[in-house]
Amino acid sequence: MDYYSKQISRLIEELSGLPGIGNKSAQRLAFHILNMPVDRVNRLSDTIREARENIRYCKTCFTLTDSEECPICSNPARNHKQIMVVENTRDLAAYEKTGQYDGVYHVLHGAISPMLGIGPGDIKLKELIKRLEGDVDEVIIATNSSLEGETTAMYISKLVKPTGIRVSRIASGVPVGGDLEYIDEVTLLRALEGRVEL
Ligand code: ZN
Repeated sequence: MDYYSKQISRLIEELSGLPGIGNKSAQRLAFHILNMPVDRVNRLSDTIREARENIRYCKTCFTLTDSEECPICSNPARNHKQIMVVENTRDLAAYEKTGQYDGVYHVLHGAISPMLGIGPGDIKLKELIKRLEGDVDEVIIATNSSLEGETTAMYISKLVKPTGIRVSRIASGVPVGGDLEYIDEVTLLRALEGRVEL
């Protein structure tokens, strides 16, 4: 990329390191940014930096939040005895968008994958088991229907069963290998309502 000056090349390089951004998109974004008013560029970079500095895990459900406890966990109107286990914060957002689920969540930040060397200790499973010592009626496993998601679901059900707490799995019908966040709200609701006890 010698035909661009050093700083432009660097900007393109940084942007193309982002997921889903190829070299062409990175070039387009770079020139778009260079044409933006300085105050907008500052606002963008400040927003990125502040988000990175302030966002942390909720101390209860481990979703990403900017306070010690997320708005869902700190909401007394939610049913804190019903915990839905999801792989990531985007999946949580997908269920929240339906507006029909009034329980709380537990975010694993991944799924068990022997192929990728991700074991039970690499996701927030210990933290889930710890929560089950409290007053919990049901654990709803809403991991993806991928091989990793199913492996994780099986693992969790084996952990929860001996506690006597009800454990269920969202209904299939969610396309295999489909990321939860791309599934429409109606399908998500159907999967939730049709969940089966394990
Ligand atoms: Zn929370």
